[in-house]
Amino acid sequence: MEISSNGGGFFDNADDLLSTIESELGPEAAEALRLSRERRQHPRELTDSESREFRTALDPVLHDLRMSGAIVPDVREQPWDDDPDFVFGWIESASSGLGIRIQLGLSAAERLADVADQVQEWEVEELAAEGRPATWPECPEHPDSHPLTPEVRDSRALWCCPKSGHAIHPIGALGLSSLLVVVASG
Ligand SMILES: [Zn+2]
Repeated sequence: MEISSNGGGFFDNADDLLSTIESELGPEAAEALRLSRERRQHPRELTDSESREFRTALDPVLHDLRMSGAIVPDVREQPWDDDPDFVFGWIESASSGLGIRIQLGLSAAERLADVADQVQEWEVEELAAEGRPATWPECPEHPDSHPLTPEVRDSRALWCCPKSGHAIHPIGALGLSSLLVVVASG
């Protein structure tokens, strides 16, 4: 967004500005601007090990976005906070950014489901902003109805139908489902 590319004195009263942006343009615009400001305040790149944790949790979700023709964000491997219990990075489009956080205390499957949840929230807003159905990933059992929900079952991160409870496919395996056993719940 144009406004976030402005620099220098524009941010002298950044908190006031964010309040104004939030009330006039909505929380997404304020969040995008806040992230832009935080990126300037924390300009470092992720370390190699942080990058590995970040990409391991994020890349499977990006795969699912690509395979379903959804909007794929640019990824910034730049932390926006310094909490040692997390790895931080962010995703962005031309119009909005979202800070992603990987909680290191979680298992690999839990991290994946947690990141899928974060990315999904960004994706449905992006789709809606483009006038596309905001149901990503769409439930194949109930077309034009609802998105799948990320869940952890038996130490696996899965996209599940919130209505039937069925596990549809593993997170990160969209488009590969014919090769995988579809696991029914219960
Ligand atoms: Zn469903």
